[in-house]
Amino acid sequence: MEPFIYDLSRPGRRGVDMPDPDVPLTPLPAEYLRDDLPLPEIGEPEVVRHYVRLSQRNYAVDKGFYPLGSCTMKYNPKINERMARLPGFALLHPLQDPATVQGAMQLMYELQQMLAEIAGFAAVSLQPAAGAHGELSGVLIMRAAQVARGQGHRHKILVPDSAHGTNPASTTMSGLTVIEIPSGADGNVDLEALKAQLDDQVVGLMITNPSTLGLFEQHIVEICRVVHEAGGFVYGDGANLNAIMGITRPGDLGIDVLHFNLHKTFSTPHGGGGPGSGPVGVSAELADFLPGPIVAQNAEGEYVWTMPARSIGRVKAFHGNFGMFVRAYTYIRMHGAEGLRRVSEDAVLNANYIQALLKQRGDYPIPHGDRFCMHELVAQGRIAGAEGVHTLDIAKRLIDYGFHPPTIYFPLIVPEALMIEPTETETKETLDAFVDALTAIAQEARTNPELLHTAPHTAPVRRLDEVRAARQPILARVPVGGR
Ligand SMILES: *Cc1c(COP(=O)(O)O)cnc(C)c1O
Repeated sequence: MEPFIYDLSRPGRRGVDMPDPDVPLTPLPAEYLRDDLPLPEIGEPEVVRHYVRLSQRNYAVDKGFYPLGSCTMKYNPKINERMARLPGFALLHPLQDPATVQGAMQLMYELQQMLAEIAGFAAVSLQPAAGAHGELSGVLIMRAAQVARGQGHRHKILVPDSAHGTNPASTTMSGLTVIEIPSGADGNVDLEALKAQLDDQVVGLMITNPSTLGLFEQHIVEICRVVHEAGGFVYGDGANLNAIMGITRPGDLGIDVLHFNLHKTFSTPHGGGGPGSGPVGVSAELADFLPGPIVAQNAEGEYVWTMPARSIGRVKAFHGNFGMFVRAYTYIRMHGAEGLRRVSEDAVLNANYIQALLKQRGDYPIPHGDRFCMHELVAQGRIAGAEGVHTLDIAKRLIDYGFHPPTIYFPLIVPEALMIEPTETETKETLDAFVDALTAIAQEARTNPELLHTAPHTAPVRRLDEVRAARQPILARVPVGGR
């Protein structure tokens, strides 16, 4: 194991030498001062080596293929990072006078507009900090709009069983009741089951489209129509926008409110790499309820903060994760409209390429393999002739082949699920190598299953006790009272 940074501490070693203060000393309140703060004493080279070693033990999209389904682990162009580090963006303070941050506000304004155009909405708020936070904001918007319509008694949110797990969680957080709607055999929402739940208690439907089965909901227009007829709104989970940019727009399909995952569709680092951003877009009817402040432009052309008239309020301190806005803005501008469409086409092509190869080789069942998938596909870790081997074993063995495993055991409605999202930024060689690894692992599963049960063999840490890690988490190892 890597030593803990406190184990490297030796009394008297210093990483920094503080200069003598050149301002008069001011006594601090005694209750804030601690004599026994056990900071490690360690020189700069040891600190640098410690963290570089740790970073090399980590896996990242800059190191290799990362096909984590539903997470869109695409390559983050380094131009994004350069832009986000420009001092005029990176060194701003959120409480600065708007007159001094017009450039940053222009970027936010234009990003609001570009996202609205990409997904077909009237207005966008950039406040929410991540996808699930955008969902919570969206559910609160739908509920506020129902109250404004005199429908405050409505309390049900319908959620298909192919939705992302955050959808029922956000609904529950907002105090509303989740009603699960089953999928049909074809992977679409069971329309009759949906209609049976539509009544005057429904706030709305939350639908993930493309769904977590990697399928485009073929009846989405009809679904929106019947929900609207029952007086409900339709929430679209837009985290999977990577499949449809420039091809179709959720707003045009009838969706009323949607969150974007800037840290998926629009690159920006995520997965241990940085904060998220989950802007929420809405139809004209819901625009007044957006969380704020948002950026508007006044008659003089200046950018100003405004609070939408019936806003659900502020959902984040200050103005959201601004560094993510710069990266997403850069990404959109670098691609342009044609480029974004190409992103989606290539993402769908890459997923279908993997699906076609896996079908051809026949080792892994693909429950909806008769349909084209969208940006991701769901296979099963059920290898004929290797019944004792499970998806977890296959995922761990992939690590030995140098790949980050796909999402596993999700969606819940597919037993032994392997949810694979290659993204558009991978070459054919990488996709081929990944499928070859899966094929080799299927062969090993039949001939030497123990190799899979004990995998990974080459990773810095072996198979973890995930249950214990979840039940008895050790969140901090800061020594109490010093060493
Ligand atoms: C990732 C994801 C979310 C949640 O987004 P976070 O930023 O992780 O909170 C919601 N829905 C879908 C379909 C997703 O893939």
